[in-house]
Amino acid sequence: AAVIVAIDGPSGTGKSSTSKAVAAQLGLRYLDTGAQYRAITWWMLNNGVDVSDPERIAAQADRPVIVSGTDPQAPAISVDGADAAGPIRTQEVTSAVSAVSAVPQVRARITELQRSIAAEARGGIVVEGRDIGTTVLPDADLKVFLTASPEARAARRSGELKGKDATGLAATQQALTERDKADSSRKTSPLKKADDAVEVDTTELTLEQVVECVVTLVEK
Ligand code: C5P
Repeated sequence: AAVIVAIDGPSGTGKSSTSKAVAAQLGLRYLDTGAQYRAITWWMLNNGVDVSDPERIAAQADRPVIVSGTDPQAPAISVDGADAAGPIRTQEVTSAVSAVSAVPQVRARITELQRSIAAEARGGIVVEGRDIGTTVLPDADLKVFLTASPEARAARRSGELKGKDATGLAATQQALTERDKADSSRKTSPLKKADDAVEVDTTELTLEQVVECVVTLVEK
């Protein structure tokens, strides 16, 4: 039977790196749900939608056509046929994504898309996000909730941004904290550990160790 793995947690805990590596190692598909929320946010910004107005966002939520690739070795995402992999990582999108993803119509739309991708994934899939274990795939075979200290998360994120972005460690840490606060406090499926998720604190672990830990949990 197809194995479904849900990996949730705040930003900078290593969700993407871990999920891709676990999927590649076990021959599963991979879905980055954060990329989908970033993609719909990018569309809103491109189309002049005021992202501080939830009603305007809600009114447009069904319009963008979002297509996600599920190859863990080559994750891909497009919006209305245009490659969105680069543009969804800009500071502009990162700053607006929590507000857009808090809108219930946006969540309903993207959740439905995620469920259909998971249902179609032959052999199984690793799905990473914030509400996969609680809301999107509550019947997942394994749920993992990754955590890490705020310092470790900011250091990892700054490492990723080096050369691309001038923000210092303190600014990175503050931006991460604010996004997590917004994601955890929204009304519709906030960032939250599912009751039956296994929590893994990655602060003192290497990526290889986290991957090994999750693979072992899947095989159990
Ligand atoms: O994982 P990533 O940092 O790319 O996610 C970007 C944003 O998308 C999160 O800060 C959150 O606002 C939103 N998101 C969400 N639910 C998910 C995945 C991401 O609300 N399952």
